[in-house]
Amino acid sequence: AKDFGMDVALEQLGLKETNHGTSTGNHHFGNGATITSSSPVDGAVIGKVTTTTQEDYEKVVASAQAAFKDWRMKPAPLRGEIVRQFGEELRRLKEPLGKLVSYEMGKSYQEGLGEVQEMIDICDFAVGLSRQLHGLTMHSERPGHRMYEQYHPLGIVGIISAFNFPVAVWAWNTALAWISGDVCIWKPSEKTPLCGVACQNIIATVLKNNNLPEGISCLVNGDYKVGEMMTTDKRVPLISATGSTRMGRIVASKVGERLGKSLLELGGNNAIIVTPDADVKMTVIGAVFGAVGTAGQRCTSTRRLIIHESMYDKVKDAVVAAYGQLKIGNPLDENNHVGPIIDKDAVAGYNNALEQVVKQGGKILVEGGVLSGAGYESGCYVKPAIAEATNDMQIVQHETFAPVLYLLKYSGDVENALDLQNGVAQGLSSAIMTNNLREAEHFLSQRGSDCGIANVNIGTSGAEIGGAFGGEKDTGGGRESGSDAWKVYMRRQTNTINYTTELPLAQGIKFDL
Ligand code: NAD
Repeated sequence: AKDFGMDVALEQLGLKETNHGTSTGNHHFGNGATITSSSPVDGAVIGKVTTTTQEDYEKVVASAQAAFKDWRMKPAPLRGEIVRQFGEELRRLKEPLGKLVSYEMGKSYQEGLGEVQEMIDICDFAVGLSRQLHGLTMHSERPGHRMYEQYHPLGIVGIISAFNFPVAVWAWNTALAWISGDVCIWKPSEKTPLCGVACQNIIATVLKNNNLPEGISCLVNGDYKVGEMMTTDKRVPLISATGSTRMGRIVASKVGERLGKSLLELGGNNAIIVTPDADVKMTVIGAVFGAVGTAGQRCTSTRRLIIHESMYDKVKDAVVAAYGQLKIGNPLDENNHVGPIIDKDAVAGYNNALEQVVKQGGKILVEGGVLSGAGYESGCYVKPAIAEATNDMQIVQHETFAPVLYLLKYSGDVENALDLQNGVAQGLSSAIMTNNLREAEHFLSQRGSDCGIANVNIGTSGAEIGGAFGGEKDTGGGRESGSDAWKVYMRRQTNTINYTTELPLAQGIKFDL
């Protein structure tokens, strides 16, 4: 990693050998056990981060509660100005942060830079939004009365994030939460803790330069136990959790028990439908990037290709041929297409999927396997694989977070393809490749895709920050990022004002004294 300037990047991001993983801004502490972060790229130790104890957590919450009292009184456009400065810092540190994302998580450097760009984009979006936190006005049924609604901040937003987007998901949440007047406590994935410390260092500088109090941006670190400190804590009105469906079910019940709000962004099982009218060249690009980009570790990664029987052999041959061109190796080297997956557990999940698909009656079209030898010492590099399968196979129903693509065949109408596409528990991203207007509109209609994201002539993978991001069913139902996703970070209040000398009741009720 030295060849790729990692040492310089770590220094620019203020990462020392042992980092305190609990922070209220410029105050760093953390008395829990230490997590060692090693890179899936070369297996080397990048750094150590201390975890958060219950006592540390109490300090963090007290600091966040105090900061909220101050922060909520700043006019929203001034909060937007802070987020604008944060975006500027991200522009300045885009390269080192992109490198760290690539090295700690394993995605390609280009994708690491892309992730930081997404943070910059959401900051820009939030700055504009800070002048547009609009409520409606309504006409009262009573004379001399005015009725309107306002959005007020909620308080502390607890953010729990996954390893695969170790920095962007935090920014999607914080940029909107901050302009809304909330303060944030973030628990990054225990698999990418240094990305968390780096981001916290960046925002802490901005807050300090503006003489803002500690507690507006807080960091806690550790595994699910630290997450549970927040999910069971009534002082944290909103929990935004990104990760597996398994985690989401637990978080939803813990937060639900105390009637808190949760925003859940969970697993996907995304498909591209390839109809007889598809452009094969576009299909291949969309499908291959969707399946092998980020080594198949995006929530929107393409897991299933649902191909019309008339196109099946043609598409199959083209996708298999494209897999033959893929270069697997160090993701910091821009000549490579596919980097490592996150850790040995993920490798075991990948091996299991390839075993299971054969056991359940599938057929391997592109062989998988774990790479070894020079350049692959971490043991986390796997070959992207393709298998022919059917939708009812239990392994096809399951989200394997690795580059395994299933080819499924359909015949007849696009409705049959939709039955397969919707016939899984998850509902995140979906796509149709077609030049046929009727098929495209059918797919987008209320009898079409049941996913939160439905694309025409684009793959399933990735999304722009301007739209609301999230999915239905086992994906959890939450929406983040663009459109009116900001509303979940605020509480709505309906106000009715009487400017007469009478006190008429609603619905014409008489109550004479
Ligand atoms: P994970 O569920 O193992 O962990 C996610 C986070 O949840 C981590 O910070 C973890 O410590 C925490 N956590 C786990 N159990 C918890 C509990 N009981 N209480 C509180 N916190 C808990 O997921 P992962 O392996 O890091 O990420 C991969 C998964 O995330 C995939 O399923 C992927 O599809 C999903 N994901 C979804 C989106 C989306 O926007 N829909 C985005 C990225 C990733």
